[in-house]
Amino acid sequence: MTGQYAVIGRPIHHTKSPQIHLAFAKMTEQEISYIAIEGKLDSFASQLDEFRDKGGSGINVTAPFKLDAYNYATSLQRSAALAGATNCLKFDGNDAKAENFDGIGLTHDITVNLSIPLKGKRVLLLGAGGAARGALFPFLQERPYELVLVNRTFEKAMRLKEQFRDYGEIIPTRYEDLSGTFDIVVNATSASLQNLLPPLPPGIFRNGALAYELLYGKGATPFLRYAKDQGASFLADGVGMLVEQAAEAFSWWRGIRPQTEAVIKAMTIPIET
Ligand code: NDP
Repeated sequence: MTGQYAVIGRPIHHTKSPQIHLAFAKMTEQEISYIAIEGKLDSFASQLDEFRDKGGSGINVTAPFKLDAYNYATSLQRSAALAGATNCLKFDGNDAKAENFDGIGLTHDITVNLSIPLKGKRVLLLGAGGAARGALFPFLQERPYELVLVNRTFEKAMRLKEQFRDYGEIIPTRYEDLSGTFDIVVNATSASLQNLLPPLPPGIFRNGALAYELLYGKGATPFLRYAKDQGASFLADGVGMLVEQAAEAFSWWRGIRPQTEAVIKAMTIPIET
């Protein structure tokens, strides 16, 4: 029987998820359908109910519904519970199980696809929104030397330090207090969506540093341009993260993990600074 899957978000016309999942299905010889659903702000839960009634087995959730999906879920996997948001649901009878694969996808992209270990590194994470929260647990599991979390609203970074204290140390910081250099700087803010640069001081990129922008498909964002000017050696955007979180979802739903390399390659837009 064909497994029915979808992605829901608003707006959704730009989504690459159907393309990615159908490519995975082809390569793993799985019979699935995968559609994009434009979410409605006042009836997200009833849209999911309707999708399930028609035989939906799982759904990816993107902005602005990751919190609604978290509230819709009947059981939370640890990644979703810690992130306080979900980007993937699996339906099993009356149960709606929630996962959050964003942070796992990001970590896999950095450590495996880009072959840059976080272990022993000085890592700077910009932002304390949904994507940053999802990254904290998988980042801490990699045992960086230091994980510094900087956010415009400092109190949010402070709260995350407390929330994650059982899993490792997070150092919350204000932009104006940032000091020293970093091996890996990850922009998990939404500043680039407004073509803005977070207020980073000069001189934060170490020799050989990676600058990773979560936003994907936009080429050289202000953050990536700044990183290049400041001497970062490696620049990456979030296309690999997107494909890797999709691979995790596919694997959770279908029990088989697809290869991601060709799909990432096909979707990569060169970053020209
Ligand atoms: P949220 O809205 O949850 O969080 C936004 C964060 O950005 C907050 O910490 C906010 O700070 C900060 N911020 C916004 N504007 C600025 C600014 N001008 N200067 C400094 N900080 C700023 O967004 P998400 O976490 O959902 O998404 C963040 C980014 O990650 C987006 O670009 C999104 O497209 C990308 N993303 C990529 C994915 C992928 O698969 N590649 C998956 C998910 C997200 P404050 O708390 O002070 O408001």
